[in-house]
Amino acid sequence: MAAPLSPTLRIAIVGAGMSGLAAALALARHGFTHIDVYEAASNLGFVGAGIQVAPNLSRQLQRLGVWEYLAEDAVEMEEASVRACATDEELTKVNLSHVAERYGQPHRVAHRAALANALYEGCKDAAPAITFHFSASVVGIDFAQHRIQIRHRDKEGDGHWVDADIILGADGVKSVVRKCMLAIHGEEDDAEDTGQAAYRIMLRRDQLVHDAELLALLDSRSTFRWIGARRHIIAYPISGHTIFNISTTQPDVNFAAAPTATWTTRADKGMMLAVYADFCPAVRRMLALVTENEVCEWKLRVHRPLKTWVEGHIALLGDACHPTLPHLGQGASQAIEDGAVLAVVLGKLTDTRDIHASLRVYERLRKTRTEFLVSQAAASGRDLHLADPAAQAARDEAFRQVAHGGPNPDKWIDRAVQDFVYGFDCVEDAEKLYGEYFAAEKGAKDRPC
Ligand SMILES: Cc1cc2nc3c(=O)[nH]c(=O)nc-3n(C[C@H](O)[C@H](O)[C@H](O)COP(=O)(O)OP(=O)(O)OC[C@H]3O[C@@H](n4cnc5c(N)ncnc54)[C@H](O)[C@@H]3O)c2cc1C
Repeated sequence: MAAPLSPTLRIAIVGAGMSGLAAALALARHGFTHIDVYEAASNLGFVGAGIQVAPNLSRQLQRLGVWEYLAEDAVEMEEASVRACATDEELTKVNLSHVAERYGQPHRVAHRAALANALYEGCKDAAPAITFHFSASVVGIDFAQHRIQIRHRDKEGDGHWVDADIILGADGVKSVVRKCMLAIHGEEDDAEDTGQAAYRIMLRRDQLVHDAELLALLDSRSTFRWIGARRHIIAYPISGHTIFNISTTQPDVNFAAAPTATWTTRADKGMMLAVYADFCPAVRRMLALVTENEVCEWKLRVHRPLKTWVEGHIALLGDACHPTLPHLGQGASQAIEDGAVLAVVLGKLTDTRDIHASLRVYERLRKTRTEFLVSQAAASGRDLHLADPAAQAARDEAFRQVAHGGPNPDKWIDRAVQDFVYGFDCVEDAEKLYGEYFAAEKGAKDRPC
């Protein structure tokens, strides 16, 4: 049997976000020893915010051997409560205790930085297989020679070119790699404006101690979603119940009025309070506790499905190819799954002539699935944000019927969606289907035109 190529192939990863870190770590676990990660920022510097750690994500973190780094921060959720924004009426309460039983892992939430740090610690443990290059922006791709052009923040000039055997574009929703890939086919890169924006807020325990009702939310094991016309808020405790994480979604006004290149900005607290002025008193008190200059606003953007994620020896992963609205809590999880699957597929390479076919196998394993989840997240947002009173009433009745076995309009707590997402082990799936998909790719390549 031919020897695997993993010890010799040079992998360049563009971006040290969730997908880039996961891919680097998973590749190192599969025996790759020449992995270079190029990150435009000077450090990891993740924006403070909560993140849902669903069973499909915990499973991969455990497999990657980094669960211990996150365990202390993660909080297990026992319930999910959906409430009417103005009255605080509980429309549905879903008991999440079935999650651990059914999918082998409980539903957890954690600090985004803790998740990124867990992956980063794993990468450092894998040294010297992985080398990080910070303040290094990829500004060009040579698809024929599989080279990337890198510009360092503190160096003048056009930057230098680096050769690699495989290039992975893990550079997020504003991906330069995607843009270059589309350009060689004469296509415009057009990230879509969803017209929505999100405030991300974190309240510390000491900010809540004087309000018994809010303190009870922090000490609970529940997520809370308050829904209203065109807006909603989701909140849950993270970091061992020391922080109450709040994330909103509302029509974008600020970015539309003053476009910025970054899609994140410090937001005005007064404006935020005005947007949620018709929400119930508990929500308004919660938002009023926010420190003046600690409101962060994100513009929510997506991208139309791409024809392909692969060009030659170059592939996209994570938000670069399937940016997902946050309503399903799966964007980072899917990005990390991409990295895990890439490592399985590339770990089987024994001939450099099969690199392209292997990357196509990765695309087959991931594209349809992640694009379905992108559509589910968008559908969930539409249902949560209904503005027509009759449609709202029908949806709210559907929420009440969940207790009697009806489908849940909030898709992340819908049993059928959970079965599809949480019950899935992307690595097992890749191992199972690799042979069939690889043969199909090779057959497609070898067939005469
Ligand atoms: C408001 C909000 C809430 C969310 N909540 C959740 C949640 O609860 N659960 C969940 O699973 N997901 C959530 N997501 C989605 C999740 O954050 C993303 O899906 C995930 O971060 C995608 O990871 P990524 O690695 O593909 O991209 P990113 O995390 O964006 O990382 C891309 C990296 O590439 C770097 N980069 C960019 N361009 C270049 C370049 N040219 N050269 C070098 N480096 C470059 C960037 O600096 C960055 O570090 C949320 C998203 C938003 C906006």
